[in-house]
Amino acid sequence: MEEALWAELQKAAGKENASRQLIDLVFYSYDASDHFGRPQAAAWATDTEQVSRILKWAHKHGVPVIPRGAGTSLSGMTVPARGGVVLDMSRMNRILALRVPDRLVILEPGVVYTDLQRVLAPKGFFFPPDPASGSVCTIGGNVATNAGGIRGAKYGVTQDYVLGLEVVLADGSIMHTGSKCMKSVSGYELTKLFVGSEGTLGVVTGITLKIAPLPRHTVTASMAFEHLADAGRAVSRIVQAGIVPCVMEILDSICVKILRRQSDLDVPDAEALLLLETDGRTLEEATKEMDRALVLTNECGGGGHLRKARSLEEAASLWQARRALGGIITRLRPSFAVEDVTVPISRVPELESVR
Ligand SMILES: Cc1cc2nc3c(=O)[nH]c(=O)nc-3n(C[C@H](O)[C@H](O)[C@H](O)COP(=O)(O)OP(=O)(O)OC[C@H]3O[C@@H](n4cnc5c(N)ncnc54)[C@H](O)[C@@H]3O)c2cc1C
Repeated sequence: MEEALWAELQKAAGKENASRQLIDLVFYSYDASDHFGRPQAAAWATDTEQVSRILKWAHKHGVPVIPRGAGTSLSGMTVPARGGVVLDMSRMNRILALRVPDRLVILEPGVVYTDLQRVLAPKGFFFPPDPASGSVCTIGGNVATNAGGIRGAKYGVTQDYVLGLEVVLADGSIMHTGSKCMKSVSGYELTKLFVGSEGTLGVVTGITLKIAPLPRHTVTASMAFEHLADAGRAVSRIVQAGIVPCVMEILDSICVKILRRQSDLDVPDAEALLLLETDGRTLEEATKEMDRALVLTNECGGGGHLRKARSLEEAASLWQARRALGGIITRLRPSFAVEDVTVPISRVPELESVR
């Protein structure tokens, strides 16, 4: 980057918030994917006005800007393909207001997912999307990728919880979308346009999220199947019966083998494992839903090794192991590729044939 350009960037970002040092450029050349591309500079966002100045500078000089949260998404979206500036949003990490009576929280994009949950839980609320990278990823990254996670079938994805955004557009202008009300339907739905736009339409600097009451009770179970398609049929039957588990995940034989070898869990040697969790305001409600689901999974050949979590800790360790699968597989086979497919629930059993 030319000296004059660099001097202007430092002025826009603040000297302490911009770097051309090799160590920073190398750091921002990677994310959790196997892509690589070196930026010309890195900058750390501190507030909306500063982000606006940086984007005005970039717009004037035609420099690409790549916003970055924690760099956990797996498709190289924070890796610069054509140089430019990586704009790290992680220092904008304040929760600005938690308004429980309004069922919302207003925060900066760099707040780490689990930090938000830690603040919400004592008030009896949570932000339901549940990305596997939750311990490090940022809410800004969740918004920009419209992240979902294992509770998606019951609780939806990030866009279902974003009420409004503050966004700095490519020319540096600042825009506000949505509102702070549960119902707000007039005008164009610009919030949804930005959610999932992966940093291509602007830099998100403020987020208003709807929060949901934390279910008081959960019941967790896992059951083994001799055939993967039977596990798929069980999922389909459960949904048809009107049961809505908060988590329903099939692990195929490869994942089962990995968990058996790499975790302390007592995982049976099965062709498929179905993990189920139901939740409710009362234990009876959650248990009743689980019992109904178990009848159906039995009819589909499941339950040879039925296991109900005996404690919250046991259930948590099951999900922890499930979330760790990606990391374990990466260590075993660094070149593995993830296929994220989506099908109508009734066609889940057919997925076996595309393995
Ligand atoms: C399409 C898609 C769907 C996904 N769905 C799931 C899922 O269902 N479950 C799951 O476990 N994981 C999912 N992931 C991965 C998960 O979304 C990421 O691990 C996590 O949400 C990213 O957070 P991060 O802070 O690491 O963001 P990063 O990886 O740093 O950035 C991710 C994207 O968001 C942009 N971005 C980050 N911050 C901002 C900001 N403030 N303003 C504008 N753009 C920004 C980046 O430019 C980049 O394009 C998904 C990823 C993608 C690409």
